[in-house]
Amino acid sequence: MDDSFDLIVIGAGSGGLAAAKRAASYGAKVAILEGDRVGGTCVIRGCVPKKLLVYGSAYGHHLADAASYGWTLEGAETPFRCDTALLLAHVRAEVDRLNQLHIGGLQKSGVQLISGWGRFEDPHHLLVTDRSGGSRRLRGERILIAVGGRPQRPSIPGAELGWVSDDLFELTTFPESVVVVGAGYIACEFAGILRGLGVAVTQLVRGDHLLRGFDREASAVVLEGMVAEGIDVRFGQSPAAIEGEPGNLRLKTDSGAVLACGGVLLATGRRPFLEGLNLEAAGVEHASGRIPVDADQCTNVAHLHAVGDVTDRINLTPVAVDEGRAFADSVYGNRPRQVDYSLVASAVFTQPELASVGLGEEEALERYGSEGVTVHRARFRSMAQALPQRGGKVLLKLVVETGSGRILGAHMVGDHSAEIIQMAAIALGMGATKADFDRTMALHPSVAEEFVTMPN
Ligand code: NDP
Repeated sequence: MDDSFDLIVIGAGSGGLAAAKRAASYGAKVAILEGDRVGGTCVIRGCVPKKLLVYGSAYGHHLADAASYGWTLEGAETPFRCDTALLLAHVRAEVDRLNQLHIGGLQKSGVQLISGWGRFEDPHHLLVTDRSGGSRRLRGERILIAVGGRPQRPSIPGAELGWVSDDLFELTTFPESVVVVGAGYIACEFAGILRGLGVAVTQLVRGDHLLRGFDREASAVVLEGMVAEGIDVRFGQSPAAIEGEPGNLRLKTDSGAVLACGGVLLATGRRPFLEGLNLEAAGVEHASGRIPVDADQCTNVAHLHAVGDVTDRINLTPVAVDEGRAFADSVYGNRPRQVDYSLVASAVFTQPELASVGLGEEEALERYGSEGVTVHRARFRSMAQALPQRGGKVLLKLVVETGSGRILGAHMVGDHSAEIIQMAAIALGMGATKADFDRTMALHPSVAEEFVTMPN
């Protein structure tokens, strides 16, 4: 077997798959290595199964609200109960389907999939070891490191008794009570999922607000909604130790409180997965546990590249995909281009959902000063909630540069905010001003129309 390739990609996640297929489409001979399941974090244990669980957990409210629209569910037991074991099984089945789809996609695009973990022997050679212990030596003219990241546990006694987000997808059912540690994307999203499925949730936050980095007003609205759902959010507290046995745990906090629960989710961040790569043999420098790259996704070694979470820049799937494609376009397609990291929209699938593009109010004030920034906002109960009379008020917010009228940031908390902000991101990318938004005819009745009818 010929073991020499134009490109070897290590890691079949979002960035690696995108790069491998794009490079192959230009005629490159490509192999992709994967020691786990094809699809990576996003498909197997991240965005996809998480979003399906978000949809699943929201059904409790849909069912409860149905009565206000005249629907009765004959024979249904109330309060409604979710068969979580069934939901989790369906989610896993969908993940299996997508995993197979990605394997098929690689075959169609002519990329050779090699199962196993890759380890550098020197700057051009990798030793790939598969599950049965068999190994194979490969040569790559270029090698792309796209191994992603892994959840990180805090260094406290008993941390191994807690779950990380990966573990939740493997469960067959959830316990009655869970302590969620952290205030980032994963902590807040899972607090909402678990609560929606009837779990009693306590969330421990070491700081004084949720979702650091997002517009503070928007994160406060998310908090309001989470508290209204019954999530017990406790600020200024960190975990000190976890004790007990699976299903019957005690989490001790640094302030001496003891929280008894059925499980602890440690959502305390992720870090690049560099273990086992033997980067030293390749001469690839890494700093603070990540691989630094230049704007062309090049490491310090010219023919070795890295994309996605292993570079720890903006850890989002679409960013990794674009980095992978930009690399392949530039190197194999004779279409040199670099990724545009400005105005990357993001969403947190909390309940209520938060989506955002551009600068938050605090960031804008820091950059342009209080005279330089005008903020417009709308806060109201959406029509969808009028009959059920349930749910919080949505927030739509525009952060505008006062002099030019240019919109610096658009933020929304409420149903479908990710869908709406995705469209707003196009306008911001084109340099839209508040006047451009005002000139746009409203689409009525909708929630998003408030973005184009905010008074000046
Ligand atoms: P984040 O970095 O977003 O959040 C980590 C949280 O854990 C922070 O609140 C942090 O507090 C807290 N924390 C860290 N260490 C400790 C500790 N020792 N004790 C107590 N609290 C601690 O990480 P996530 O794991 O939530 O998400 C990782 C990345 O994955 C995100 O940055 C995002 O890019 C991506 N992601 C994106 C999603 C989406 O697009 N919807 C969904 C999920 C993940 P503090 O703020 O004080 O540092």
